[in-house]
Amino acid sequence: MSHNNKTEKESLNFLEELIEGELQSGRVSKEQLLTRFPPEPNGYLHLGHASSICLNFGIAKKFGGRTNLRFDDTNPVTEDTEYVESIKADINWLGFQWANEFYASDYFETLYSYAVELIKKGLAYVDDSTAEQIAAMKGTPTQAGTDSPFRNRSVDENLDLFTRMRNGEFKDGEKTLRAKIDMASPNMHLRDPLMYRIKHAHHHRTGDKWCIYPMYDFAHGQSDSIENITHSICTLEFEVHKPLYNWFIEKLGIFPSRQFEFARRNISYTVMSKRKLLQLVNEKIVDGWDDPRMPTISGVRRRGYTAESIRNFADVAGISRRENVTDYNLLESCLREHLNRIAARTMAVINPLKVVLLNYGEDKTETLKAENNPEAAEKTYRDISFSREIYIEKDDFMEHAPEGFFRLTPGGMVRLKHAYIIRCEKVVKNDDGSISEIHCTYIPESKSGQDKSGIKVKSVIHWVDAASAVTAEVRLYDKLFTVEAPDAQEGDFKSYINPDSLKVFSDAKVEPALLKHDKEERFQFCVSDIL
Ligand code: ATP
Ligand code: MG
Repeated sequence: MSHNNKTEKESLNFLEELIEGELQSGRVSKEQLLTRFPPEPNGYLHLGHASSICLNFGIAKKFGGRTNLRFDDTNPVTEDTEYVESIKADINWLGFQWANEFYASDYFETLYSYAVELIKKGLAYVDDSTAEQIAAMKGTPTQAGTDSPFRNRSVDENLDLFTRMRNGEFKDGEKTLRAKIDMASPNMHLRDPLMYRIKHAHHHRTGDKWCIYPMYDFAHGQSDSIENITHSICTLEFEVHKPLYNWFIEKLGIFPSRQFEFARRNISYTVMSKRKLLQLVNEKIVDGWDDPRMPTISGVRRRGYTAESIRNFADVAGISRRENVTDYNLLESCLREHLNRIAARTMAVINPLKVVLLNYGEDKTETLKAENNPEAAEKTYRDISFSREIYIEKDDFMEHAPEGFFRLTPGGMVRLKHAYIIRCEKVVKNDDGSISEIHCTYIPESKSGQDKSGIKVKSVIHWVDAASAVTAEVRLYDKLFTVEAPDAQEGDFKSYINPDSLKVFSDAKVEPALLKHDKEERFQFCVSDIL
Protein backbone atom coordinates (compact mmCIF):
# COMPACT_ATOMS: atom_id res chain seq x y z
CA MET A 1 0.00 0.00 0.00
CA SER A 2 1.51 3.33 -0.90
CA HIS A 3 0.50 6.63 0.58
CA ASN A 4 1.26 10.06 -0.63
CA ASN A 5 1.19 12.04 2.60
CA LYS A 6 0.84 15.39 0.95
CA THR A 7 -2.31 14.75 -1.00
CA GLU A 8 -3.80 12.68 1.84
CA LYS A 9 -3.27 15.58 4.22
CA GLU A 10 -4.89 18.06 1.92
CA SER A 11 -7.99 15.99 1.29
CA LEU A 12 -10.77 16.23 3.86
CA ASN A 13 -12.40 13.29 5.62
CA PHE A 14 -16.21 13.02 5.54
CA LEU A 15 -16.66 14.87 8.84
CA GLU A 16 -14.34 17.66 7.78
CA GLU A 17 -16.25 17.97 4.53
CA LEU A 18 -19.52 18.18 6.41
CA ILE A 19 -18.19 20.84 8.76
CA GLU A 20 -16.66 22.82 5.96
CA GLY A 21 -20.10 22.85 4.34
CA GLU A 22 -21.78 23.97 7.56
CA LEU A 23 -19.28 26.78 8.00
CA GLN A 24 -19.86 27.92 4.43
CA SER A 25 -23.65 27.82 4.75
CA GLY A 26 -23.48 29.65 8.09
CA ARG A 27 -25.13 26.83 10.03
CA VAL A 28 -22.26 27.16 12.50
CA SER A 29 -19.63 29.84 12.81
CA LYS A 30 -15.94 29.42 13.46
CA GLU A 31 -16.46 30.94 16.90
CA GLN A 32 -19.15 28.39 17.76
CA LEU A 33 -17.35 25.35 16.39
CA LEU A 34 -16.60 23.24 19.45
CA THR A 35 -15.67 19.55 19.62
CA ARG A 36 -14.74 17.51 22.65
CA PHE A 37 -12.66 14.49 23.54
CA PRO A 38 -14.50 12.61 26.32
CA PRO A 39 -12.35 9.83 27.83
CA GLU A 40 -13.51 7.80 30.75
CA PRO A 41 -10.58 7.86 33.21
CA ASN A 42 -10.55 4.10 33.68
CA GLY A 43 -7.34 3.25 31.83
CA TYR A 44 -4.56 4.62 29.67
CA LEU A 45 -5.26 5.96 26.20
CA HIS A 46 -4.60 3.70 23.22
CA LEU A 47 -4.12 4.23 19.50
CA GLY A 48 -7.88 4.19 18.95
CA HIS A 49 -8.16 7.17 21.27
CA ALA A 50 -5.25 8.77 19.43
CA SER A 51 -7.32 8.67 16.25
CA SER A 52 -10.27 10.24 18.02
CA ILE A 53 -7.98 12.92 19.50
CA CYS A 54 -6.45 13.69 16.11
CA LEU A 55 -9.94 13.88 14.62
CA ASN A 56 -11.50 16.12 17.27
CA PHE A 57 -8.54 18.42 17.83
CA GLY A 58 -7.65 18.26 14.14
CA ILE A 59 -11.08 19.55 13.08
CA ALA A 60 -10.87 22.43 15.55
CA LYS A 61 -7.37 23.27 14.36
CA LYS A 62 -8.26 23.06 10.68
CA PHE A 63 -11.33 25.31 10.89
CA GLY A 64 -10.41 27.67 13.73
CA GLY A 65 -12.67 26.10 16.36
CA ARG A 66 -11.89 24.73 19.82
CA THR A 67 -11.86 21.38 21.62
CA ASN A 68 -12.74 20.59 25.22
CA LEU A 69 -11.22 17.78 27.21
CA ARG A 70 -14.01 16.25 29.22
CA PHE A 71 -13.50 13.39 31.62
CA ASP A 72 -16.54 11.20 31.44
CA ASP A 73 -16.27 10.20 35.09
CA THR A 74 -19.73 8.89 35.91
CA ASN A 75 -18.64 5.42 36.97
CA PRO A 76 -16.97 5.81 40.39
CA VAL A 77 -15.84 2.21 40.75
CA THR A 78 -13.37 1.93 37.86
CA GLU A 79 -12.03 5.47 37.72
CA ASP A 80 -8.88 6.94 39.15
CA THR A 81 -6.83 10.16 39.17
CA GLU A 82 -3.76 8.24 37.97
CA TYR A 83 -5.64 7.78 34.71
CA VAL A 84 -6.65 11.44 34.56
CA GLU A 85 -2.99 12.49 34.76
CA SER A 86 -1.80 9.99 32.16
CA ILE A 87 -4.56 11.03 29.75
CA LYS A 88 -3.60 14.70 29.99
CA ALA A 89 0.08 13.90 29.53
CA ASP A 90 -0.65 11.75 26.47
CA ILE A 91 -2.81 14.38 24.75
CA ASN A 92 -0.17 17.04 25.33
CA TRP A 93 2.54 14.73 24.08
CA LEU A 94 0.52 14.14 20.90
CA GLY A 95 0.76 17.88 20.40
CA PHE A 96 -2.75 19.08 21.26
CA GLN A 97 -4.04 21.62 23.75
CA TRP A 98 -7.63 21.70 24.98
CA ALA A 99 -9.63 24.91 25.41
CA ASN A 100 -11.16 23.73 28.73
CA GLU A 101 -10.69 20.82 31.08
CA PHE A 102 -14.07 19.63 32.32
CA TYR A 103 -15.46 16.70 34.28
CA ALA A 104 -18.91 15.19 33.85
CA SER A 105 -18.91 14.96 37.65
CA ASP A 106 -18.88 18.78 37.76
CA TYR A 107 -22.33 18.58 36.20
CA PHE A 108 -23.87 16.15 38.71
CA GLU A 109 -25.95 18.90 40.31
CA THR A 110 -27.18 20.20 36.93
CA LEU A 111 -27.91 16.69 35.69
CA TYR A 112 -29.87 16.05 38.86
CA SER A 113 -31.97 19.15 38.23
CA TYR A 114 -32.54 18.02 34.62
CA ALA A 115 -33.81 14.70 35.96
CA VAL A 116 -36.16 16.48 38.34
CA GLU A 117 -37.42 18.53 35.42
CA LEU A 118 -38.21 15.40 33.42
CA ILE A 119 -40.01 13.87 36.41
CA LYS A 120 -42.11 17.03 36.70
CA LYS A 121 -42.96 16.79 33.01
CA GLY A 122 -44.13 13.23 33.55
CA LEU A 123 -41.21 11.95 31.45
CA ALA A 124 -39.30 10.01 34.09
CA TYR A 125 -40.22 7.63 36.90
CA VAL A 126 -38.67 5.73 39.76
CA ASP A 127 -38.73 1.99 39.23
CA ASP A 128 -38.43 -0.57 42.06
CA SER A 129 -37.86 -3.46 39.66
CA THR A 130 -34.62 -5.40 39.91
CA ALA A 131 -32.10 -5.40 37.04
CA GLU A 132 -33.30 -8.90 36.08
CA GLN A 133 -36.95 -7.85 36.05
CA ILE A 134 -36.13 -4.80 33.96
CA ALA A 135 -34.22 -6.96 31.49
CA ALA A 136 -37.11 -9.43 31.31
CA MET A 137 -39.60 -6.63 30.58
CA LYS A 138 -37.39 -5.16 27.88
CA GLY A 139 -38.70 -7.40 25.10
CA THR A 140 -36.64 -8.26 22.03
CA PRO A 141 -35.87 -6.32 18.86
CA THR A 142 -38.89 -7.98 17.24
CA GLN A 143 -41.17 -8.07 20.28
CA ALA A 144 -42.42 -5.10 22.26
CA GLY A 145 -41.47 -4.78 25.91
CA THR A 146 -43.93 -4.66 28.79
CA ASP A 147 -44.61 -1.72 31.06
CA SER A 148 -43.13 -1.78 34.51
CA PRO A 149 -45.77 -1.87 37.27
CA PHE A 150 -44.14 1.34 38.57
CA ARG A 151 -44.44 3.20 35.28
CA ASN A 152 -47.50 5.20 36.24
CA ARG A 153 -46.42 6.55 39.59
CA SER A 154 -47.54 10.10 40.25
CA VAL A 155 -45.17 13.00 39.76
CA ASP A 156 -45.22 13.70 43.50
CA GLU A 157 -44.38 10.14 44.41
CA ASN A 158 -41.55 10.10 41.85
CA LEU A 159 -40.16 13.39 43.17
CA ASP A 160 -40.24 12.09 46.72
CA LEU A 161 -38.61 8.76 45.85
CA PHE A 162 -35.92 10.38 43.70
CA THR A 163 -35.04 12.79 46.54
CA ARG A 164 -34.80 9.84 48.90
CA MET A 165 -32.62 7.97 46.40
CA ARG A 166 -30.24 10.91 46.47
CA ASN A 167 -30.38 11.07 50.25
CA GLY A 168 -29.10 7.53 50.53
CA GLU A 169 -32.26 5.90 51.89
CA PHE A 170 -32.00 2.92 49.55
CA LYS A 171 -29.43 0.25 48.89
CA ASP A 172 -27.60 -0.34 45.59
CA GLY A 173 -29.94 -1.70 42.95
CA GLU A 174 -33.10 -1.13 45.00
CA LYS A 175 -34.40 1.61 42.71
CA THR A 176 -33.59 3.27 39.43
CA LEU A 177 -34.78 6.35 37.61
CA ARG A 178 -36.00 5.65 34.09
CA ALA A 179 -37.06 7.85 31.22
CA LYS A 180 -40.68 7.28 30.23
CA ILE A 181 -40.55 6.93 26.46
CA ASP A 182 -41.95 3.91 24.64
CA MET A 183 -41.74 0.26 25.66
CA ALA A 184 -42.77 -0.73 22.13
CA SER A 185 -40.18 1.33 20.28
CA PRO A 186 -38.29 -0.62 17.61
CA ASN A 187 -35.18 1.04 19.05
CA MET A 188 -34.39 -0.82 22.27
CA HIS A 189 -32.59 2.22 23.63
CA LEU A 190 -35.90 4.07 23.73
CA ARG A 191 -37.65 1.43 25.85
CA ASP A 192 -37.60 3.44 29.05
CA PRO A 193 -33.80 3.60 29.41
CA LEU A 194 -32.19 3.96 32.82
CA MET A 195 -31.14 7.48 33.77
CA TYR A 196 -29.83 6.95 37.30
CA ARG A 197 -28.72 4.02 39.41
CA ILE A 198 -27.89 3.84 43.08
CA LYS A 199 -24.24 3.17 43.84
CA HIS A 200 -22.84 3.75 47.30
CA ALA A 201 -19.29 4.22 46.12
CA HIS A 202 -16.53 6.75 46.64
CA HIS A 203 -15.92 8.92 43.59
CA HIS A 204 -12.39 10.12 42.79
CA ARG A 205 -13.60 13.74 42.60
CA THR A 206 -16.94 14.09 44.37
CA GLY A 207 -16.00 11.81 47.25
CA ASP A 208 -19.07 10.55 49.13
CA LYS A 209 -21.34 13.42 48.11
CA TRP A 210 -23.39 11.27 45.75
CA CYS A 211 -24.81 7.79 45.98
CA ILE A 212 -26.76 8.02 42.72
CA TYR A 213 -24.90 8.26 39.43
CA PRO A 214 -26.23 9.13 35.96
CA MET A 215 -25.97 6.52 33.23
CA TYR A 216 -23.86 7.22 30.15
CA ASP A 217 -26.92 8.16 28.06
CA PHE A 218 -28.11 10.68 30.58
CA ALA A 219 -24.68 12.19 31.19
CA HIS A 220 -23.02 12.34 27.84
CA GLY A 221 -25.40 14.32 25.68
CA GLN A 222 -26.36 16.63 28.52
CA SER A 223 -22.68 17.37 29.21
CA ASP A 224 -22.29 18.19 25.50
CA SER A 225 -25.20 20.63 25.77
CA ILE A 226 -23.92 22.25 28.96
CA GLU A 227 -20.64 23.00 27.18
CA ASN A 228 -22.33 24.10 23.92
CA ILE A 229 -20.54 21.38 21.95
CA THR A 230 -21.55 21.73 18.29
CA HIS A 231 -20.19 18.42 16.98
CA SER A 232 -20.20 15.46 19.33
CA ILE A 233 -18.15 12.87 17.49
CA CYS A 234 -18.27 9.28 18.66
CA THR A 235 -17.82 5.75 17.38
CA LEU A 236 -20.42 3.86 15.35
CA GLU A 237 -21.81 1.76 18.19
CA PHE A 238 -23.45 4.92 19.52
CA GLU A 239 -25.44 5.48 16.35
CA VAL A 240 -28.36 3.56 17.88
CA HIS A 241 -28.20 5.84 20.93
CA LYS A 242 -28.68 8.95 18.82
CA PRO A 243 -32.50 9.07 19.00
CA LEU A 244 -32.19 8.99 22.79
CA TYR A 245 -29.44 11.63 22.71
CA ASN A 246 -31.81 13.85 20.75
CA TRP A 247 -34.85 12.98 22.88
CA PHE A 248 -33.26 14.25 26.10
CA ILE A 249 -32.07 17.45 24.42
CA GLU A 250 -35.51 18.09 22.93
CA LYS A 251 -37.48 17.37 26.11
CA LEU A 252 -35.15 19.50 28.22
CA GLY A 253 -34.94 22.27 25.64
CA ILE A 254 -31.20 22.59 26.12
CA PHE A 255 -28.42 23.49 23.66
CA PRO A 256 -28.86 21.35 20.54
CA SER A 257 -25.54 19.53 20.31
CA ARG A 258 -25.47 17.05 17.43
CA GLN A 259 -23.91 13.62 17.38
CA PHE A 260 -21.84 12.24 14.48
CA GLU A 261 -20.34 8.78 14.21
CA PHE A 262 -17.28 7.20 12.65
CA ALA A 263 -15.91 3.65 12.71
CA ARG A 264 -13.59 2.87 15.59
CA ARG A 265 -9.93 2.35 14.82
CA ASN A 266 -8.90 -1.29 14.92
CA ILE A 267 -5.36 -2.37 14.14
CA SER A 268 -4.31 -5.87 13.19
CA TYR A 269 -2.23 -7.98 15.62
CA THR A 270 -3.44 -6.08 18.66
CA VAL A 271 -6.46 -5.45 20.85
CA MET A 272 -7.87 -2.01 21.43
CA SER A 273 -10.07 -2.05 24.45
CA LYS A 274 -9.12 -0.68 27.84
CA ARG A 275 -10.80 -3.60 29.54
CA LYS A 276 -8.59 -6.08 27.68
CA LEU A 277 -5.47 -3.97 28.06
CA LEU A 278 -6.14 -3.80 31.79
CA GLN A 279 -6.20 -7.62 31.88
CA LEU A 280 -2.77 -7.72 30.24
CA VAL A 281 -1.48 -5.33 32.91
CA ASN A 282 -3.16 -6.99 35.90
CA GLU A 283 -2.14 -10.47 34.85
CA LYS A 284 1.43 -9.25 34.32
CA ILE A 285 1.53 -10.43 30.72
CA VAL A 286 3.14 -7.06 30.01
CA ASP A 287 5.15 -4.80 32.31
CA GLY A 288 2.49 -2.13 32.74
CA TRP A 289 0.39 0.23 30.64
CA ASP A 290 3.50 1.73 29.05
CA ASP A 291 5.11 -1.57 28.08
CA PRO A 292 6.51 -0.97 24.58
CA ARG A 293 4.40 -3.83 23.21
CA MET A 294 1.16 -2.19 24.33
CA PRO A 295 -0.93 -0.24 21.78
CA THR A 296 -1.25 2.51 24.37
CA ILE A 297 0.06 5.97 23.58
CA SER A 298 2.54 5.68 26.44
CA GLY A 299 3.58 2.24 25.21
CA VAL A 300 4.26 3.21 21.61
CA ARG A 301 6.06 6.31 22.87
CA ARG A 302 8.49 4.05 24.72
CA ARG A 303 8.69 1.87 21.66
CA GLY A 304 10.14 4.86 19.83
CA TYR A 305 7.08 6.28 18.11
CA THR A 306 7.07 10.03 17.61
CA ALA A 307 3.98 12.18 18.04
CA GLU A 308 4.33 13.24 14.42
CA SER A 309 4.30 9.65 13.21
CA ILE A 310 1.11 8.89 15.15
CA ARG A 311 -0.61 12.02 13.87
CA ASN A 312 0.44 11.04 10.37
CA PHE A 313 -0.88 7.50 10.92
CA ALA A 314 -4.26 8.88 12.00
CA ASP A 315 -4.27 10.95 8.84
CA VAL A 316 -3.29 8.34 6.28
CA ALA A 317 -5.36 5.58 7.89
CA GLY A 318 -8.24 8.03 7.69
CA ILE A 319 -11.70 7.70 9.19
CA SER A 320 -14.55 5.73 7.80
CA ARG A 321 -18.27 5.14 8.20
CA ARG A 322 -17.75 1.39 8.02
CA GLU A 323 -16.08 -1.05 10.44
CA ASN A 324 -12.55 -1.86 9.28
CA VAL A 325 -9.17 -3.05 10.46
CA THR A 326 -6.06 -1.01 9.72
CA ASP A 327 -2.94 -2.94 8.77
CA TYR A 328 -0.30 -2.91 11.53
CA ASN A 329 2.31 -2.40 8.79
CA LEU A 330 0.86 1.02 8.01
CA LEU A 331 1.53 2.09 11.59
CA GLU A 332 5.12 0.88 11.36
CA SER A 333 5.71 2.47 7.98
CA CYS A 334 4.52 5.85 9.31
CA LEU A 335 7.13 5.60 12.04
CA ARG A 336 9.89 4.45 9.71
CA GLU A 337 9.18 7.27 7.32
CA HIS A 338 9.58 9.84 10.10
CA LEU A 339 12.55 8.26 11.87
CA ASN A 340 14.35 7.88 8.59
CA ARG A 341 14.35 11.66 8.34
CA ILE A 342 15.12 12.55 11.95
CA ALA A 343 16.88 9.71 13.75
CA ALA A 344 20.66 9.69 13.90
CA ARG A 345 22.28 6.43 12.86
CA THR A 346 24.56 4.75 15.32
CA MET A 347 26.30 1.41 15.47
CA ALA A 348 25.34 -1.23 17.99
CA VAL A 349 26.25 -4.89 18.12
CA ILE A 350 23.49 -6.89 19.73
CA ASN A 351 25.13 -10.28 19.83
CA PRO A 352 28.86 -9.54 19.92
CA LEU A 353 31.70 -11.55 18.42
CA LYS A 354 35.17 -10.24 19.13
CA VAL A 355 37.49 -9.56 16.19
CA VAL A 356 41.22 -9.03 16.71
CA LEU A 357 43.03 -7.20 13.90
CA LEU A 358 46.43 -8.89 13.96
CA ASN A 359 48.23 -6.26 11.86
CA TYR A 360 46.83 -3.24 13.73
CA GLY A 361 49.17 -1.70 16.34
CA GLU A 362 48.51 -2.71 19.95
CA ASP A 363 48.44 0.87 21.24
CA LYS A 364 47.14 2.50 18.12
CA THR A 365 43.71 4.18 17.95
CA GLU A 366 42.14 6.27 15.23
CA THR A 367 39.20 8.63 15.21
CA LEU A 368 36.95 8.14 12.21
CA LYS A 369 34.18 10.39 10.95
CA ALA A 370 30.72 8.87 10.62
CA GLU A 371 27.78 10.55 9.00
CA ASN A 372 24.80 10.76 11.35
CA ASN A 373 21.97 10.65 8.85
CA PRO A 374 22.31 10.26 5.10
CA GLU A 375 18.66 11.37 4.70
CA ALA A 376 19.03 14.64 6.58
CA ALA A 377 19.04 17.89 4.65
CA GLU A 378 21.97 19.13 6.69
CA LYS A 379 24.93 16.78 7.02
CA THR A 380 26.30 16.16 10.50
CA TYR A 381 29.05 13.83 11.64
CA ARG A 382 30.22 12.18 14.82
CA ASP A 383 33.55 10.73 15.88
CA ILE A 384 33.94 7.01 16.31
CA SER A 385 37.07 5.31 17.55
CA PHE A 386 38.79 2.37 15.90
CA SER A 387 41.45 0.11 17.36
CA ARG A 388 42.89 -3.39 17.33
CA GLU A 389 39.89 -5.12 18.89
CA ILE A 390 36.36 -4.63 17.72
CA TYR A 391 33.00 -6.35 18.00
CA ILE A 392 30.90 -7.48 15.08
CA GLU A 393 27.50 -9.18 15.05
CA LYS A 394 27.68 -12.97 15.48
CA ASP A 395 25.28 -13.29 12.56
CA ASP A 396 27.69 -11.43 10.30
CA PHE A 397 30.20 -14.28 10.47
CA MET A 398 29.81 -17.91 9.41
CA GLU A 399 32.50 -20.52 9.62
CA HIS A 400 30.83 -22.88 7.16
CA ALA A 401 28.82 -20.52 5.02
CA PRO A 402 26.33 -21.68 2.42
CA GLU A 403 26.49 -20.23 -1.05
CA GLY A 404 24.98 -16.75 -1.14
CA PHE A 405 26.26 -15.75 2.29
CA PHE A 406 28.07 -12.50 1.51
CA ARG A 407 29.29 -11.48 4.93
CA LEU A 408 32.43 -12.62 6.73
CA THR A 409 33.74 -16.18 6.28
CA PRO A 410 37.19 -17.71 6.85
CA GLY A 411 39.48 -16.28 4.16
CA GLY A 412 36.76 -13.84 3.04
CA MET A 413 36.65 -10.06 3.09
CA VAL A 414 34.07 -7.45 4.12
CA ARG A 415 34.13 -3.73 4.70
CA LEU A 416 33.63 -2.37 8.22
CA LYS A 417 31.24 0.56 7.88
CA HIS A 418 33.03 3.94 7.97
CA ALA A 419 36.38 2.09 8.36
CA TYR A 420 38.47 -0.53 6.56
CA ILE A 421 38.19 -3.75 4.63
CA ILE A 422 39.18 -6.76 6.73
CA ARG A 423 39.97 -10.38 5.90
CA CYS A 424 39.29 -13.30 8.23
CA GLU A 425 42.48 -15.26 8.89
CA LYS A 426 41.62 -17.58 11.76
CA VAL A 427 38.76 -18.81 13.90
CA VAL A 428 39.65 -19.22 17.59
CA LYS A 429 37.58 -21.73 19.53
CA ASN A 430 36.67 -22.54 23.11
CA ASP A 431 37.18 -26.02 24.56
CA ASP A 432 33.56 -26.88 23.76
CA GLY A 433 34.05 -26.08 20.09
CA SER A 434 32.17 -22.80 20.11
CA ILE A 435 33.81 -19.76 18.54
CA SER A 436 35.51 -17.48 21.06
CA GLU A 437 36.87 -14.84 18.68
CA ILE A 438 38.14 -14.42 15.17
CA HIS A 439 41.47 -13.09 13.99
CA CYS A 440 41.56 -10.85 10.97
CA THR A 441 43.89 -8.51 9.14
CA TYR A 442 42.87 -5.10 7.89
CA ILE A 443 43.80 -3.46 4.59
CA PRO A 444 45.43 -0.11 5.56
CA GLU A 445 44.85 1.56 2.16
CA SER A 446 41.11 0.73 2.14
CA LYS A 447 39.96 3.43 4.55
CA SER A 448 36.41 4.59 3.79
CA GLY A 449 36.32 7.75 1.72
CA GLN A 450 39.93 7.32 0.56
CA ASP A 451 40.03 3.71 -0.57
CA LYS A 452 43.02 2.96 -2.83
CA SER A 453 42.95 -0.79 -2.39
CA GLY A 454 41.01 -1.62 -5.53
CA ILE A 455 39.38 -4.50 -3.62
CA LYS A 456 35.69 -5.16 -4.23
CA VAL A 457 33.75 -6.64 -1.34
CA LYS A 458 30.19 -7.87 -1.29
CA SER A 459 29.06 -6.40 2.02
CA VAL A 460 29.53 -3.67 4.59
CA ILE A 461 29.01 -4.72 8.19
CA HIS A 462 28.60 -2.68 11.35
CA TRP A 463 30.92 -2.94 14.33
CA VAL A 464 31.83 -1.21 17.58
CA ASP A 465 35.33 -0.48 18.91
CA ALA A 466 35.97 -2.85 21.86
CA ALA A 467 38.16 -0.40 23.78
CA SER A 468 35.49 2.27 24.05
CA ALA A 469 32.24 0.28 23.67
CA VAL A 470 29.58 0.50 26.34
CA THR A 471 27.78 -2.68 27.34
CA ALA A 472 24.03 -2.23 27.14
CA GLU A 473 20.85 -4.21 27.51
CA VAL A 474 18.93 -4.29 24.26
CA ARG A 475 15.27 -5.26 24.24
CA LEU A 476 13.88 -6.32 20.90
CA TYR A 477 10.12 -6.11 20.71
CA ASP A 478 7.86 -7.84 18.26
CA LYS A 479 4.10 -7.93 17.82
CA LEU A 480 2.23 -8.83 21.01
CA PHE A 481 -0.10 -11.30 19.27
CA THR A 482 0.49 -14.09 16.81
CA VAL A 483 -2.81 -13.65 14.96
CA GLU A 484 -4.23 -10.74 12.99
CA ALA A 485 -7.45 -10.51 14.94
CA PRO A 486 -6.93 -11.73 18.52
CA ASP A 487 -10.42 -10.46 19.38
CA ALA A 488 -12.12 -12.57 16.76
CA GLN A 489 -10.53 -15.91 17.76
CA GLU A 490 -12.15 -18.66 19.71
CA GLY A 491 -11.48 -18.68 23.41
CA ASP A 492 -9.45 -16.23 25.43
CA PHE A 493 -7.66 -13.55 23.41
CA LYS A 494 -4.70 -13.97 25.77
CA SER A 495 -3.97 -17.44 24.45
CA TYR A 496 -2.73 -15.78 21.25
CA ILE A 497 0.08 -13.84 22.92
CA ASN A 498 3.34 -14.03 20.98
CA PRO A 499 5.83 -15.86 23.27
CA ASP A 500 8.72 -14.12 21.47
CA SER A 501 7.34 -10.59 21.71
CA LEU A 502 10.30 -9.57 23.87
CA LYS A 503 13.90 -10.72 23.43
CA VAL A 504 16.50 -9.33 25.81
CA PHE A 505 20.19 -9.14 24.92
CA SER A 506 22.19 -8.20 27.98
CA ASP A 507 25.65 -8.03 26.45
CA ALA A 508 25.08 -5.67 23.53
CA LYS A 509 27.88 -3.25 22.67
CA VAL A 510 27.07 0.32 21.68
CA GLU A 511 28.95 3.49 20.80
CA PRO A 512 29.79 5.45 23.97
CA ALA A 513 28.27 8.62 22.48
CA LEU A 514 24.81 7.15 23.19
CA LEU A 515 25.32 7.75 26.91
CA LYS A 516 25.10 11.48 26.35
CA HIS A 517 21.51 11.41 25.09
CA ASP A 518 18.09 11.78 26.63
CA LYS A 519 15.68 8.97 27.31
CA GLU A 520 13.28 9.80 24.50
CA GLU A 521 15.83 10.41 21.77
CA ARG A 522 15.59 8.03 18.86
CA PHE A 523 18.45 6.31 17.07
CA GLN A 524 18.59 3.93 14.21
CA PHE A 525 21.05 1.07 14.57
CA CYS A 526 22.87 0.43 11.32
CA VAL A 527 22.36 -2.99 9.84
CA SER A 528 24.74 -4.78 7.56
CA ASP A 529 24.36 -4.00 3.87
CA ILE A 530 24.78 -6.51 1.14
CA LEU A 531 26.22 -4.63 -1.83
P1 ATP B 1 -12.53 1.23 25.38
O1 ATP B 1 -13.50 0.24 24.85
O2 ATP B 1 -11.14 1.00 24.95
O3 ATP B 1 -12.65 1.41 26.87
P2 ATP B 1 -14.07 3.55 25.17
O4 ATP B 1 -14.79 4.02 23.96
O5 ATP B 1 -14.87 3.01 26.27
O6 ATP B 1 -12.95 2.58 24.71
P3 ATP B 1 -13.60 6.12 26.24
O7 ATP B 1 -12.61 6.57 27.23
O8 ATP B 1 -15.03 6.10 26.63
O9 ATP B 1 -13.15 4.69 25.75
O10 ATP B 1 -13.42 6.90 24.86
C1 ATP B 1 -13.12 8.24 24.72
C2 ATP B 1 -13.31 8.62 23.28
O11 ATP B 1 -12.42 7.89 22.45
C3 ATP B 1 -14.72 8.30 22.81
O12 ATP B 1 -15.20 9.38 22.06
C4 ATP B 1 -14.54 7.08 21.97
O13 ATP B 1 -15.50 7.03 20.96
C5 ATP B 1 -13.13 7.26 21.42
N1 ATP B 1 -12.53 5.96 21.13
C6 ATP B 1 -12.34 4.94 21.98
N2 ATP B 1 -11.82 3.87 21.35
C7 ATP B 1 -11.68 4.22 20.05
C8 ATP B 1 -11.21 3.56 18.87
N3 ATP B 1 -10.77 2.29 18.90
N4 ATP B 1 -11.21 4.25 17.72
C9 ATP B 1 -11.63 5.52 17.67
N5 ATP B 1 -12.10 6.19 18.72
C10 ATP B 1 -12.13 5.57 19.91
MG1 MG C 1 -16.21 3.95 27.49
